[in-house]
Amino acid sequence: MKDFAATRRPRALRPAMAVIAGLLAGCAAHLPQLQRRELLTTQVGSFAVEYSDPDEGVIPRIAQAVESAGPAIGRWGQLSSPVRIEVLPSHESLEKAVDRQGYDWLRAWARYDEMFVQSPRAWGFIGPTQAELNELLTHELTHCMMYQQSSDRHSWLAKGFPLWFREGMASYTSGQGYRWPTLEELARFLETHPKEDPIRDPEPLYQGESDIVYSAAHHAFSYLVLRQGESGVIQILHAMQPGPSFGEAFRQVTGIGPDDFTTQFKQYVEERRFRSAGYRSALRMVAAGLSRSGGRSLPSIAR
Ligand SMILES: [Zn+2]
Repeated sequence: MKDFAATRRPRALRPAMAVIAGLLAGCAAHLPQLQRRELLTTQVGSFAVEYSDPDEGVIPRIAQAVESAGPAIGRWGQLSSPVRIEVLPSHESLEKAVDRQGYDWLRAWARYDEMFVQSPRAWGFIGPTQAELNELLTHELTHCMMYQQSSDRHSWLAKGFPLWFREGMASYTSGQGYRWPTLEELARFLETHPKEDPIRDPEPLYQGESDIVYSAAHHAFSYLVLRQGESGVIQILHAMQPGPSFGEAFRQVTGIGPDDFTTQFKQYVEERRFRSAGYRSALRMVAAGLSRSGGRSLPSIAR
């Protein structure tokens, strides 16, 4: 995920190519220098933090961030498999571990039951604050939670999660909406870039306008919560467990396919329906985490 500490101003992240966390194929390079290991258990699962000697001093900060992620990610369930967290001593070792070169902004990467994080010691002259570290780990561990709630170690890569759902869920869970362009700004972007589609075709925008991709993902996921509740998201994830892909499970639970959903979301943004009093109060509920069972007063998602 992006280096959210690179700038401390909301919505002023430097342009960066966003990497689809979790879609990395192949195995991480073996990292023999991580000879230290600490086990942690929190309310959502257990974790093995692996690190090298020079990082001993940052482990309490990592442990605190793992602990603080618990309540936020716990809304989706429990981690069924322990997560191995590798604290990598340098940016180069992170790139090597995830087999990506030239991603200066990359700070962490999550897969089914593994998370790689660049040691806060090596983030630059001014390292992350504890709040930034908490946010980063909550975001990454949400990816692990999403995969574990929906798949097993062998099937998670093939489920076909769209970026808007995957990154939107992580951004929503870690409360990162304040970092991204607002719904109004997203509406303006759609108006002025009629050929771009940050929701269904985000790839061409990663390099120069990743903020709008994260904005679209965050707001589309929030819109899903607004319509289906967090319980609807959990139903989608669980519906995938016996075998269905994301698209099949999404249709089973919501009555429409993901493409119809993103079309509806786009209309909602373009027509600025989010400005209406009904949506405004529903969105406040969603932002406050009070929409566990969906916006009953709003029209059904299926139509
Ligand atoms: Zn992510």
